[in-house]
Order: sequence, then structure tokens, then C-alpha cells
Amino acid sequence: TLNDKTYDLKAAIRTIPDYPKPGILFRDITTLLGDARAFRRAIDELVQPWSGAKIDKVAGMEARGFILGGAVAHQLSAGFVPIRKKGKLPHTKVSIAYSLEYGLDEMEIHDDAVVAGERVILVDDLIATGGTATGAVGLLKKIGADVVAACFVIDLPDLGGADKIRALGVPVRTLMSFE
Ligand code: AMP
Repeated sequence: TLNDKTYDLKAAIRTIPDYPKPGILFRDITTLLGDARAFRRAIDELVQPWSGAKIDKVAGMEARGFILGGAVAHQLSAGFVPIRKKGKLPHTKVSIAYSLEYGLDEMEIHDDAVVAGERVILVDDLIATGGTATGAVGLLKKIGADVVAACFVIDLPDLGGADKIRALGVPVRTLMSFE
């Protein structure tokens, strides 16, 4: 069934060696998204700790965070807040620099995306170094959000990102890890 508890979610992730460059193992979630049972299972597992909690909004980083975060928000009856790369959002916004593997980039959020004190969870497909999630947590805090947790389908624990987010005082939940 769609809710089969024995379903192997990890098997729904496709690994592409040497993408986008030599030495990287790219963990491709398009195979999970395209498999109805895996997609439902992933969303159910992401929302599970929050089913009784009051979550006002779910924030997602473009682009894969939009797909997962939108589904999580719907299931929690919460609003959705997009965090985007520089120059994409139309209204008054707040920006933050964040570290990529090489150098810095900027991400943005609308300054009125949350009411101060609203309880927000952050959702993305994967946490590696934690640079992206650190930027996203920083933006949410700047606009007054109470960042209750950060949730990812995949953790790459060797890169230490989840621990960086926990050090910011934000609990981290991941569904699987690839060493
Ligand atoms: P980081 O900022 O280093 O934690 O990287 C996280 C972001 O980069 C996420 O939005 C991921 O989608 C993407 N990413 C980083 N490493 C990988 C990987 N090995 N496979 C797939 N996506 C990755």
C-alpha cells in the first residue's frame, strides 16, 4: 500500500557518480519524487514529529525544497515560505550571504513572510556542508521566525552540516544518511 512501513525509502534515491563534477556522488531525488509510494512515505516521515504540534509555516529553499516543503506544508495545514536565490523575489526582502563549495552567493526572503514569533520548520532535500541551511536559518531569524526544526530527506554526515545547524540551537531531523 501507499503507507507500507517496510518500504525502503533509501532505495528510491538514485546516485549519479561524478555529477556535477568528478568525485561528487550526486544523490538524485527525482526517482523518489516520481515514485508515488516513496514520495508519500518521505512526506509522511518528514511531518511525523509535527502532527500534533502547531507549525505556522514551512520554509523551503529553491528548487527541491519547494517540492518537498510544499507537500509538507499542505499536510500540516501550514503556510509555505519560499527562500530564493538573489534577484527572484518581487517584494521587499532581506538577503544573506551563504557559503558554497567555492565562494559565496546570496539568498533572499520576503521581509513579511512570517509574523514575528511564528513557528517555522525548514525543509530541503539534502544537507551536506550546511552552508545553505545556515543561510536559510539566518534569514528566518532575521525576519523574526521561531525556527523549530530543520528537516532533510538525506544527510551526508561526513560533511558535518547537521551538527552545524544543531550548534545554532535548531534541532535537525533527517530520514537517511549516505556515509
Ligand atoms: P550544503 O549547503 O553544502 O549543505 O549543500 C546542500 C545543498 O546542495 C542542497 O540544496 C542539495 O540539494 C545540494 N547538494 C549538495 N551536495 C549534494 C549531493 N551530493 N547530491 C545532491 N545534492 C547535493
